[in-house]
Amino acid sequence: MEKREELYAGKAKSVYLTDDPDCLILEFRDDTSAFDGEKVAQLARKGMVNNHFNVFIMNKLAEAGIPVHVEKLLSDKEVLVKKLDMMPVECVVRNIAAGSICRRLGVTEGIDLNPPTYELFLKDDALHDPMINESHVETFAWVKTADLAKMKELTYKVNDVLKKLFADAGMLLVDYKLEFGLFHGEVVLGDEFSPDGCRLWDAETREKLDKDRFRQGLGGVVEAYEEVAKRLGMRLP
Ligand code: ADP
Ligand code: UDP
Repeated sequence: MEKREELYAGKAKSVYLTDDPDCLILEFRDDTSAFDGEKVAQLARKGMVNNHFNVFIMNKLAEAGIPVHVEKLLSDKEVLVKKLDMMPVECVVRNIAAGSICRRLGVTEGIDLNPPTYELFLKDDALHDPMINESHVETFAWVKTADLAKMKELTYKVNDVLKKLFADAGMLLVDYKLEFGLFHGEVVLGDEFSPDGCRLWDAETREKLDKDRFRQGLGGVVEAYEEVAKRLGMRLP
């Protein structure tokens, strides 16, 4: 597999073409951002930790029958993935109230959400990723209706798999964001699953072990990610 030119540099990852038109290389950088890029920092080891974390989680999801883009871990910061035609819509499931749902609806952080909520956001930094609904997606033809239904089904299936995985390791999966894309017409889970895009709390103390440590200036960001990885039984370099 030959790495070719950079296709896109996002806020946390860089995307490279390869000699295979169906494959890309994602490079996980140490850059961290929050509040639509307003708060930025470089956190040593973060790229490596999130790359390994993502491959570990995506492999678990694949074992559970969820189609994922990850093909192969290439190095500490690089992963080979299927090249997807990404959907401009982010899917969020919440098991416990935190973050924007508290600000939007005046809900107290920490209450159980039963059944879990399912929300859609438009992936558009300039518009601050506004919340949208299925009707908007249909009207503006952002995603085909059948594909949107598949994304919802897969997003809930991820919840079944990962809630248990984290619970067994003493953690609560509070919420998470997923991005999907099309690979030769099939809906496939893309991007990353890491503590940058989900909320994880210690089950006993409810200590935050995710990117809220960065957003809220709590410190120990990468240390918390590494603690989560350790609890899951991952061995990081
Ligand atoms: P952002 O674009 O939000 O700043 P990142 O820094 O994580 O985010 O950049 C990674 C980009 O790569 C995102 O736009 C994401 O949608 C895209 N991406 C992730 N996985 C794939 C894939 N398998 N194929 C094509 N694009 C992908
Ligand atoms: N999230 C994300 N990228 C985004 C927006 C949200 O990864 O652009 C994740 C976030 O980490 C959290 C979940 O999606 O796990 C729900 O985020 P929320 O809507 O509460 O937004 P926030 O409070 O983080 O702005």
